[in-house]
Amino acid sequence: MDISPDGALLAAAVALAAAAVGTALAILGIGTLRRAARRLAGQIADLRRHPQIGDLPAESDPAFRTLSLEINHLIRDLRARLREADRRSGELEAVLDGPPDLALVSTDPEWRIVSFSRGAVALTLWQREEILGNHVETLFAAGEWERILPKLARRPLREAGIVESARLLRRDGTAFPASLSVAPASPASGAAGSMLLVARDLTSATELERRLRDSEERYRRLVEGVSDGVFITQSERLVYVNPGLARLVGVDRKELQGAPFKDLLDARDLLRVVEILRRAERGEGAASGEISCLLRVRQGAPAECRVAWATTEFQGRRAVVGTIADLTERTRLERVLAASEAALRATLQSTADGILLLRGSGGDRAVSLANRAFCELFGLFAETMPGQSEAELVRALKERCTTPEKLERFFAEAGSTAGAATLAGLEIAVPRRALADLVADSVRSSPEAGEVLGIIVTARDLTARIDAETALRRSLDDLAKAKADLENAYVELAGAQKILAERNTQLETLNAELKSLDEMKSNLLANVSHELHTPLVSIKGYTEMILKRRLGPLTPEQERGLSVALKNIDRLVEMIDNLLSFSRMEKGETQLHLEDVPLWQLVDEAIEMVGERIQKKGITVTTQYETDDLVVRGDRVKLGQVLTNLLTNAVKFNRDGGRITVTARKGPRGFLEVDLADTGIGIPPEEQGKIFERFYQVDSSPSRRYEGTGIGLSIVRDILRLHGCSIRVKSEPDKGSVFTFTLPLAHDQAGSV
Ligand code: ADP
Repeated sequence: MDISPDGALLAAAVALAAAAVGTALAILGIGTLRRAARRLAGQIADLRRHPQIGDLPAESDPAFRTLSLEINHLIRDLRARLREADRRSGELEAVLDGPPDLALVSTDPEWRIVSFSRGAVALTLWQREEILGNHVETLFAAGEWERILPKLARRPLREAGIVESARLLRRDGTAFPASLSVAPASPASGAAGSMLLVARDLTSATELERRLRDSEERYRRLVEGVSDGVFITQSERLVYVNPGLARLVGVDRKELQGAPFKDLLDARDLLRVVEILRRAERGEGAASGEISCLLRVRQGAPAECRVAWATTEFQGRRAVVGTIADLTERTRLERVLAASEAALRATLQSTADGILLLRGSGGDRAVSLANRAFCELFGLFAETMPGQSEAELVRALKERCTTPEKLERFFAEAGSTAGAATLAGLEIAVPRRALADLVADSVRSSPEAGEVLGIIVTARDLTARIDAETALRRSLDDLAKAKADLENAYVELAGAQKILAERNTQLETLNAELKSLDEMKSNLLANVSHELHTPLVSIKGYTEMILKRRLGPLTPEQERGLSVALKNIDRLVEMIDNLLSFSRMEKGETQLHLEDVPLWQLVDEAIEMVGERIQKKGITVTTQYETDDLVVRGDRVKLGQVLTNLLTNAVKFNRDGGRITVTARKGPRGFLEVDLADTGIGIPPEEQGKIFERFYQVDSSPSRRYEGTGIGLSIVRDILRLHGCSIRVKSEPDKGSVFTFTLPLAHDQAGSV
């Protein structure tokens, strides 16, 4: 655009110079003037090309000095004007080119384009030289110009201009939305004047609008979808309620729309909360805040809630927007969480494995939990553990291990791999020798790829297991040895059993032989006794007759000899009676002839039988009856034999001048108990159990002091057994013996039959 005024100014300068030159020509010589005029003209031409060059050098010729000074003055003035003109032209150009996002197009009255701004080039992609002179319709998408033209045709509009949305066309044929204003370039000039079109690309505005709509939609969905309640109030009425809030208070959403906010509140919190929101809506006090309050719930107890609110604008008016979180559920969940955390902690504390939880990452890890087993294993104080840094802990653990470097490596590995590390067989020396396996793993916010929250280390104490294994191995060894011993013993036992079986067979044979021998002996004994008894009785009878002098007179010597013979015959008879009773008893042929007999009678008869021997040894016999119930029921002869045999022994084994005491007392129910005590040689304890066996004698050597057959006590025992009674002995060598036996009481026996 050539609107620079410098041409006119220069022309003026040149004219001035020419005038000056003309004046000078008249004064100076023609040659000099010509030269000076040429020089000046050249300098002015230079100046024209380069307005910044500088002043003219001062002319030495006094005729031109004034001229050059004036020209210089002129040049300075010119330069100032040029600068001002440049500035103005720049501004104008900037105005005409307009901002880059605004298309400025001017047309002549025939709608041909006469100017096309920088913004128009950028928007339409047409170059100035291409578009200038074209009809403005070129810039419109199909049908758009035809749509706008009738509006422009109306005079008032044409004068005032119109604002329209229209689709414009780019050079490459693509269309874009634009806001368009068309107005006369100089309104005063009337209908036939040139027109100015201003267009702004609405693509970005549309895009923005779309984005705004999208984000509004997202926001709306978010608000509609959240479980917390969301509301907007205006003039204390609910103008918006999300489904979450409707659910929370158990009221239909439509019902809440337009309802007073106070309807949501429990009576206890009504005034307080309403006042806070009222002030907020009025713009008094804080612009946002949080309140805990109770919300009315249509069917159920009031819900404890937290209302977070802020003032906002809604449809051009001040409003309060807020969220309502139900704390009832949260409190319940917090309680459940606390309970499950407590349960988890209890489990961790009671588990036999050591558990250590380190929270945090890198060098910031610190102990969050160390359970009882872990603290016990390493001898740590459980109370001081939480919060201890990993470095501190590792230092403490290292002091307790025999291989601290292993432990350090383990923790370093666990740290660098976010957990995964193992350490087998860590030897612990303090507080007690132990062996442990350590395993580390990461703790994440979610099981798979969650954020690493820390490290968990489990320590398994293997000491007990190893001890148990050693003990088990030892007992297995013992067991194997015992098994071998047992097998050997079995072999030996089998051998012994075989021998035993052989011995048994031998014994059985021997036994059979013995039995037959015994039978033979018994038969012999019975026969011999029987055979001996008859002649002896006859011998005894004749001897007694002779002694009674029935067969004639006797000399004193004969009488003495016969008395001795009779005594020995009596002994023999007694002995043979015993043998006969014994063999009868052995054969089971003994019969009892029961009758009631007073004990003292039996005792007296026995004493009388043995009287001579008692006297001979100078023994004192005493009887003590400690009960009046002394009548016994039994076989008189056999019970007499019992007392005679016992008394005979008491005399035989007594010392000279010794004592014999017979004591009778009430015995166990229905029995009399009788002691027969002597002050004789006594019986050694180991012999006391054997003396009732047949043929047994404490001293059975051929040179024994005491005569006898060894069957007296066995007959006593058998007779008593036949009466349902028993006998026992108590004795002390060199002090005497006491034989205690029972006898059936007649009175009781009769009563019980
Ligand atoms: P014996 O005919 O030998 O007396 P017994 O059967 O009557 O046979 O007694 C067996 C043995 O018991 C006796 O040989 C004697 O050793 C011992 N004996 C029995 N009574 C007494 C007693 N009162 N004092 C010491 N020893 C006795």
